[in-house]
Amino acid sequence: MALKKIYLDNNATTPCDPRVVETMVPYFFEHHGNAASRSHPFGWEAEEAVDYAREQVANLIYADSKEIIFTSGATEADNLALKGAYEMYRRKGNHIITLTTEHKAVIDTCHKLEKQGAEITFLDVERDGLVDLKKLEAAIKPNTIMISVMWANNETGVIQPMKGIGEICKKHGVLFFSDGTQAVGKIPTNPRELGIHLMAFSAHKMYGPKGVGALYVSRKNPRVKVTAQVDGGGHERGMRSGTLNVPGIVGFGKAAEIAKKEMAQDAERLSGLRDKLEKGLCQLEETYINGNVDHRMPHVANISFKHVEGEGLMMTFNQEIALSSGSACTSASLEPSYVLIALGLGDDLAHSSLRFSLGRFSTEEEVDYTIEAISKGVNHMRDLSPIWEMFKEGVDLTKIEWSEH
Ligand SMILES: *Cc1c(COP(=O)(O)O)cnc(C)c1O
Repeated sequence: MALKKIYLDNNATTPCDPRVVETMVPYFFEHHGNAASRSHPFGWEAEEAVDYAREQVANLIYADSKEIIFTSGATEADNLALKGAYEMYRRKGNHIITLTTEHKAVIDTCHKLEKQGAEITFLDVERDGLVDLKKLEAAIKPNTIMISVMWANNETGVIQPMKGIGEICKKHGVLFFSDGTQAVGKIPTNPRELGIHLMAFSAHKMYGPKGVGALYVSRKNPRVKVTAQVDGGGHERGMRSGTLNVPGIVGFGKAAEIAKKEMAQDAERLSGLRDKLEKGLCQLEETYINGNVDHRMPHVANISFKHVEGEGLMMTFNQEIALSSGSACTSASLEPSYVLIALGLGDDLAHSSLRFSLGRFSTEEEVDYTIEAISKGVNHMRDLSPIWEMFKEGVDLTKIEWSEH
C-alpha cells in the first residue's frame, strides 16, 4: 500500500490555493511588465495589477492601500518594522519591549539592534503563553519607543491580548508593532481599530505564494514612518526598493480576497476538526495541551505526550503525517523549543510535544487517520520505554541518580 501523505504543518507554510495559482499565471509571460515602467503598456498593466492586489490586501486588514508596503515576506517586514522604526525614532529613545516567545525574525533582529545601541527587554510570558498586561506596562520606561508583540504564536497558536496592548501603547505614546503572520487571513485582523501602527504578514501562511509579504504602516493618527532598509529605485514610497514581484503580489491579493470571504467558514470547520483531534489524542494518558485553550487560533493544537520523544514518535508512522516537533533542529543538536521552554515546560515535555496545524485543505479523514496513527505510536513507544514503566510504577523520576558513562 502506498504511504499516505498528510499535511498538518500549515503554520510552517500553506499550500498555494489553486485559485491563487490560476490568477498568477498570466503575470509570468503575457503580462510580464515591470510595474515601475511608466512609458509603455507592459508596465501599466503590471502596475494596474499591483494596484488591484494592494487594494485586496489592504481590504483584508481594513487598511488603506497606501498603508501596504510589499516585501519579500514576513521576515523582511519584521526587519523593516524594527530596524526602520528604530532608525527613524531613536532620537526619541532606544528602548524596545518584546516577548521571549516571538518568532526568530523578531528576536534576532532585536539582538542585532542591541549591538547598535538599542536596549531590548525580552519579557517572559505566563505559563499559558499570554503576556501579562500589568508586567508589560511596568516594563515601559521614559526611553521606550516601541512594543513588539506577535498577534498569534506560530508554535502554540496562542493569541495575545492585542486590544489591551494597543491601549497601553496609546496611553504611553509608544509605537505598537505586531508580527501578524499567523493571524492575518485566518482570524479578523484590524490593526487600526486595535491601535497597531506597524504589522508584518506573509502570503505563504495564508494560501498565497512564497516570497511575498507586506508591512502595514499606519498613515494617519499617527502617521508612522520607517527608514528603508533596502535602498535603490525608491519603490514602495521609498520604504522598500526593488522591482516588485508582480506575479507574487497578484497571488497575494487573490489569497487575501479569498481569505476575507472564507475565513469564517474555514475557522469554524477547522476548529471542529482540531477539537476532534485533541479529544481523540487526549484519550491517551499523560497528554497535555500547551498554551491557553481559550485564546488560541482555531486550527492549531500543540500537545505533549509525556515520556514520548516527539521526533522518535514521528518515525513510528514513517513520516506519513507532516508535523513539527518541539525539538528544533539547530546545528545537528536537538534543542527543545524556546517557545515551549518560555511557557515553563521542562526539557522533557518540550521534546515530547508535537504541533498540529490544520489548513484549508485538511479533511476529517486525515484527522481520523492521524488520531489512530499517533495513538498507536505513543502506545508503542511507551511499551518499549523503561522510563514509562518506572513512571507507571510510581518511581519519582526526578529523584533517580543516573550513572554517567
Ligand atoms: C513564517 C513566519 C515568519 C516568516 O515569514 P516569511 O514570509 O517566511 O519570511 C515570521 N513570523 C511568523 C510568526 C511566522 O510564522
